[in-house]
Amino acid sequence: MSKYQTIAQAVKEGNVSNISASEGIKVYPHSLSESGNVKLVMIKDNQTKYILAVGEGPLFDELQGSVEGGVKACPLTHENRLVINKYFDYTVPRAFGTQIATIGLGDRLGIASPGHIKTVRGRNVRPILAQQSIRELNLTGRDYKQVVDAACFAAFQEGYKDGFGADGDHLKVEADIELALGLGFTMLTLDCSEYIDNSIEGLSAAEQAAKYAALPEDVRKHYESRYLNQEFTIAGTSVTFDQETLAKNVLIYGPAIDFMEHIYNKYIKTADREIDFEISIDETATPTAPESHFLVAKELYARGLTIYSMAPRFIGEFQKGIDYIGDIEQFEKELIIHAGIADDFGYKLSIHSGSDKFSVFPIIGKHTKGRFHVKTAGTNWLEAVRTVAKVNPGLYRRMHQHALEHFEEATAYYHVTTDLSKIAPLDQVADADLADTYMNEDNARQLIHITYGILLQAKDAEGKSLFKDEFYSTLSDQEEAFEQSLISHIGKHLDLLGK
Ligand SMILES: [Zn+2]
Repeated sequence: MSKYQTIAQAVKEGNVSNISASEGIKVYPHSLSESGNVKLVMIKDNQTKYILAVGEGPLFDELQGSVEGGVKACPLTHENRLVINKYFDYTVPRAFGTQIATIGLGDRLGIASPGHIKTVRGRNVRPILAQQSIRELNLTGRDYKQVVDAACFAAFQEGYKDGFGADGDHLKVEADIELALGLGFTMLTLDCSEYIDNSIEGLSAAEQAAKYAALPEDVRKHYESRYLNQEFTIAGTSVTFDQETLAKNVLIYGPAIDFMEHIYNKYIKTADREIDFEISIDETATPTAPESHFLVAKELYARGLTIYSMAPRFIGEFQKGIDYIGDIEQFEKELIIHAGIADDFGYKLSIHSGSDKFSVFPIIGKHTKGRFHVKTAGTNWLEAVRTVAKVNPGLYRRMHQHALEHFEEATAYYHVTTDLSKIAPLDQVADADLADTYMNEDNARQLIHITYGILLQAKDAEGKSLFKDEFYSTLSDQEEAFEQSLISHIGKHLDLLGK
């Protein structure tokens, strides 16, 4: 007899909704599914999830797991994920194209996607559940297989059939692009920062002219014949490229445009499936001028590229995990032009570092006419920490203290203006107030936001994790609380974006 016999019987009868958690076992009723003569359901037994399979047929045989009393308990391995993908289409990541809004929901922990699915279900937006950059993988010690596996199993767990994407975020080198596409990623965010010359802005007009004159003649001819002293109407505004403006833009963006073209022709055009191809030019020294955005777009389309989205750097500051900092009126003026350019060419505007930008979400929703891609990541980690602060204050206190001691190291990876002196001392905050005091205050949010890698990888002298194991175990026990946090917080993002 398997200890899962009662559940197996209910699965066979096709009704698991009456099975309540017992003996540490939880059943996920939305996961109930069947293919041929095999029925499956996902459960959690003592913090470990399994897919239980009953019946007979190739699906049952292909899943790996231990069989007892006719029930196969299959761990959530990469191999089993591929089998689930083969039999259940909706568990395979997909591309979305440009006609529907999407939200990137980077999940650094690999446990947030069920809550994200509950957040987007029924809304007019689709989730990119898997979204990680190489930097995040390095800081969390995860790999791309795990990232996609977690998203696919979440779709299975929740029986979510509206589709989800997988974004290889901020990829810069071809080896990583090949890896991500090979693993089934459906979106590629090409980070062109290494081809964008940030030194040009700091040069004098004479230095820029000299540098431009040193470019190959055919390059100069190419751009001059298309843009020099010509008038373009972009989003209702007229723009002309004089010699100086054109030279500057060619110097800053020319090599990046060539790089985008190369990657598109080599990987996107030749892919065996649809890929949502995003261009990111947001990691620059200064905000992207509307005419620069236009020139990049015009060149790409003239060279035969079609893109899913473009992420310019907007005016003001999009710092991690806190609201927009800057002049909202000026932001709106420029956003109207950026959104107009995207609209003219047919792609979506992409908003990076979109976590918690509540004051500008309504403007973004309005001027993109609801066709946008907004990326969030850190805020999902912060909601996990908020949950821990509520249910395991002791663990939160130790993490907070460690973060304070290692803050400087973390600033090597992220640009923030955190003022540690504004963070309330731990010994003056009661357990019941930890979550609100720290997770609703910008400086503390940033402290915890940028130290995620340090906190998750911290080990004691014996090599035992200082926080990670207890953190995961707490969130597994409190998964409903974590989901509620995400539903409320990410839901607020979507409400303000008009979705
Ligand atoms: Zn970015």
